[in-house]
Amino acid sequence: CGIIGCAGRGGATLDTLVHGLSKLEYRGYDSAGVALSGSEVRVEKRAGELDALRAALDDADEDLTGSVGVGHTRWSTHGPPTDENAHPHRDCTGEVAVVHNGIIENYQELRDRLTDAGHEFESDTDTEVVPHLIEERLMAGDDPETAIRAAVDQLDGSYAIAVVVAGVDRVFAARNDSPLVLGIADDAHFLASDVPAFREFTDRVVYLEDGEFAVIDADGWRVTDGAGALVDKRVHAVDWDP
Ligand code: GLU
Repeated sequence: CGIIGCAGRGGATLDTLVHGLSKLEYRGYDSAGVALSGSEVRVEKRAGELDALRAALDDADEDLTGSVGVGHTRWSTHGPPTDENAHPHRDCTGEVAVVHNGIIENYQELRDRLTDAGHEFESDTDTEVVPHLIEERLMAGDDPETAIRAAVDQLDGSYAIAVVVAGVDRVFAARNDSPLVLGIADDAHFLASDVPAFREFTDRVVYLEDGEFAVIDADGWRVTDGAGALVDKRVHAVDWDP
C-alpha cells in the first residue's frame, strides 16, 4: 500500500502520480486511485492493478488536471477491493479528497455519529470518515489546515494521510504509525510512503515522525507537531540513484 502527493510550479500531473504509484507497487496493493485538485477535485479510482487505473484514465472524457494531486495504492483492511472502496475518498460536497494507509480503530463510532448528523457514506472503508470529519470542521468555519488537524485529532489507530481541498494549492499530510516522507525539489514538493515514489525528481528528503503534520505547495514545505509548533526538520540526501 502506498501514498504519493505532489505540488509543482507546473501543476501536478497524472504522469507523476501514476509513476510514483508504480514505484510503490512492491509494497503490495489491490486497488489504486488518484485525485487532482484545482478549482474542483477530480478523482479516478479502480480495483485491481495499476493498469486498470491507467485504462480508466485513458478512457476518461477529459484529462484530469490540477495544481496539486494525490495518489494511493490500497491494501484492503475494511471492505473488499472494489472501485467504491478504492481511495481517494471524498466528503459530501466532493471538495475534499483523502488517501490513507493504515487502520482507523474508532471509525465505527465516528461513522455512526456522522451518519446521525446527516453525512452519507459511499464505501465500506474506515477511511471515509476522514473526509467527512474534515467537511464538518470546514462547515463550522475552520480554515483547511485547522479542519484537517481537528479531524486527525479525532482518529485512533495507524495512519499516513494525505488530503487535497478544492481551490487550495496545497497537499496536507499527517502520520501516526505509518511511514511518510517529504521530497524537496527546486520546482516541486512531494510526499510519499517511501522515497522511490519521487526519487527521479529529487534526492532531498525529510522523514516525518509520528504525530507530525506536513504541508507542501509548489514553493515550499512545512512540518508542525501536534500542537501546531514548527518542527526544525533535517533535510537528508539519499545516496542511491533512481
Ligand atoms: N484501511 C484502509 C482501507 O481498507 C486503508 C488500507 C491501506 O492501508 O491501504 O481502505
